[in-house]
Amino acid sequence: MKNIVLFGPPGAGKGTQADKLVAKYGFNHISTGEVIRQQIKAETELGLSVKAYIERGELAPDSLVINIIADYVMNHTEGAGNIFDGFPRTTHQAEEFDKIMTANGQKVDAMIALTVPDEELIKRLLLRGQDSGRKDDADESVIRNRIDVYKAQTAIVADFYSAQGKYVEVDGVGSIDEIFDRLCAEIDKL
Ligand code: ADP
Repeated sequence: MKNIVLFGPPGAGKGTQADKLVAKYGFNHISTGEVIRQQIKAETELGLSVKAYIERGELAPDSLVINIIADYVMNHTEGAGNIFDGFPRTTHQAEEFDKIMTANGQKVDAMIALTVPDEELIKRLLLRGQDSGRKDDADESVIRNRIDVYKAQTAIVADFYSAQGKYVEVDGVGSIDEIFDRLCAEIDKL
C-alpha cells in the first residue's frame, strides 16, 4: 500500500493528476479543498464556519482539516493506497498527520511536489475560474493571496518530508500526459 502526498501550489495540477493516478493505480484520493467545498455547498456547520477563510484565500483552521484527515485515514487503511491532495499544508498539519498515520498502522511513503512558475499558476487559475464556478479562482487578488499563503505557510512543509528523505519534485509544466508520466516514474520507484 502506497500513501502519497501530492504537493504544490494552487493551480499546480494536483487534482487533475490525482484523478489520473486513481484511474491507473486504483488509489483512493482525498482533496481537503474538495471536502471543504462540499461542506460549504451543503451549508453544514463545518462549511459555514470556514466559508469566509476560503473566500479570502486563507487556510482553514488546522484543527478542522486534521479532523477531516483523521476520519479519512481511519476508513482507508487497506487497498492500493491513498493520494493526499492539499494536505498537509502547514508544518503542524504534517506533524499531526504522522501521528494519525502511525496510530492507524500507516506511513507516508513520499511527498511528490509539482513545480510550476507563479505566472503560469495565475494564468491556469484564472482560466479555471471562468467555468469551474469556484469563487476563489475568479478573482486575481484572491489567487495571489493563495499563492502568498502557500509561500509563507505551506512551502516549508517540503522540509519536513525532505528531512525524512521522502521529498521529490516533478516538473509540473508540460502536457497533462507528460506530467503524468513523470509522476508515474516516481511512484513506480516507491
Ligand atoms: P488550491 O490548491 O487550488 O487552492 P484546494 O481545492 O486544494 O485548492 O483548496 C481550496 C481552499 O481550501 C484553500 O485555499 C484553503 O483555504 C482550503 N484548504 C484546503 N486544504 C487545506 C488545508 N490542508 N489546510 C487549510 N486549508 C485548506
